[in-house]
Amino acid sequence: MAKKNNNKSTNSSNKRPPIVAVLGHVDHGKTSLLDYIRKSKIVDREAGGITQGIGAYQIETSSTKITFIDTPGHEAFSKMRSRGAVVADIAILVVAADDSVMPQTKESVKYIRDTGTPMIVAINKTDLPSAQPEKVKKDLLRIDVACEGYGGETVAVNISAKTGKGVDELLEMVGLVADMQELTADPQGNLEGVVVESRLDKRIGILATVIVKNGTLENRDVIQVGNIQGKVKAMFNEFGKGVKRVLPSQPAEILGFSDLVSVGSEVTRVGENTQVANSEAKSAAKDKTKKDSVLKLIVKASSNGSLESVLESLPDEIEVIRSGVGNINLEEVEFAIASKAAIVGFEIIADSVVTQFAADQRVILRTYKVIYKLVEEVEDVIIELTSEPEEVVTGVAKILAKFSINDVNVAGARVEQGKFKLKDKVKVEHDGKVSRGKVVSIKQQKVEMNEANQGEEYGIGISPELDFNKGDVIIAYNIN
Ligand code: GDP
Repeated sequence: MAKKNNNKSTNSSNKRPPIVAVLGHVDHGKTSLLDYIRKSKIVDREAGGITQGIGAYQIETSSTKITFIDTPGHEAFSKMRSRGAVVADIAILVVAADDSVMPQTKESVKYIRDTGTPMIVAINKTDLPSAQPEKVKKDLLRIDVACEGYGGETVAVNISAKTGKGVDELLEMVGLVADMQELTADPQGNLEGVVVESRLDKRIGILATVIVKNGTLENRDVIQVGNIQGKVKAMFNEFGKGVKRVLPSQPAEILGFSDLVSVGSEVTRVGENTQVANSEAKSAAKDKTKKDSVLKLIVKASSNGSLESVLESLPDEIEVIRSGVGNINLEEVEFAIASKAAIVGFEIIADSVVTQFAADQRVILRTYKVIYKLVEEVEDVIIELTSEPEEVVTGVAKILAKFSINDVNVAGARVEQGKFKLKDKVKVEHDGKVSRGKVVSIKQQKVEMNEANQGEEYGIGISPELDFNKGDVIIAYNIN
């Protein structure tokens, strides 16, 4: 596992708040501690305080700001815990005073050691009568964690996440340990960030919570996360409020990925703004060379596996301009409008808001449960798009004479069927070759007319000059 780079002082670096992860055995009170800190330390600056769990939040004590990684759920627990230790500057090891050192306590200590992260022990549940904080310290010594008073220097604080006792002291200790680390970052430097949470919001799309460790993340930045590239479309803070830039140690939820990104992934900027512009120009140029494709598609599927199957089954005439896992969202409909693309989904749904928006905007949006139906319909659309337009004949005239008046090619013709109108499309077949033009004038005995009707003779001016002769047939038509 990579050792940490704490960005120790350089000339242009500023002090940055510590990023803290809370680790420990299940049920020892990690969630309770994070909840307590969130509720007690975040003054309701915004109505309702934190409106959504974005996976991280920043608090401000009297002396320092602290960013907490708010570990979600327990499914990806082990993964998050290990990655949490990588992103964190300081780890709080929570050990329940009534349960002491347990298997995941040991695992947590191993992760913390492997990543070289400074550790503070929080002995929790000290409000319980069965609490034995000194036993916890003794047990910790057995796994080589030596607390103060037990032959070592590891800070241990007795707390209760339930009553809040000792939590202020714990936060003070976090501040002290952070000061010793001299954590710095350069807001103007290269962007370094870490994904601490990634989720799919049905309405908005894929959101990833990133904590910036160096540099500044800004709206419209093109960023690389693992092998996924995204362009920051919007960023939200822990209050769900839109922000334009995110400074070192701040968390933000980012909209702009077409695929879920892995928790723990590193975030870098692909290019500065000029490079961004370049890459946009490049992709525009690429679009131009892809003239062969007749239909642009946005493809969404329920899993990577099913997405792959769909992409493999699509005909060559399709240009997939975006693909990803998850439900269809509003942002994709907007992308479809901008790119004149259709959207297909496989084994997924689009909620009614999205479907309605697509319908209002005349964006084709279809979802399928079976792959062959999807492919079949896409092929039907291609046939429709590539087949010759259907011509509907609206008039037929026989050419009786050919002359040129004021450089306009005029056919003296008798209308045999239907009628000819000004601006009608016309075609003539001569020597097996079809030439096309449109009606620019209609005259009957030198009188300007708008229409030439069946059974009568007219001089029909046609532009551009068509190749015809006396005896040929001139046809007026519409395209359906
Ligand atoms: P986690 O699995 O480590 O996140 O643990 P939780 O925060 O979910 O806590 C597990 C249980 O311990 C819950 O029922 C909490 O209410 C309880 N708990 C957590 N902290 C304390 C504490 O300081 N005192 C007491 N008495 N109970 C606590």
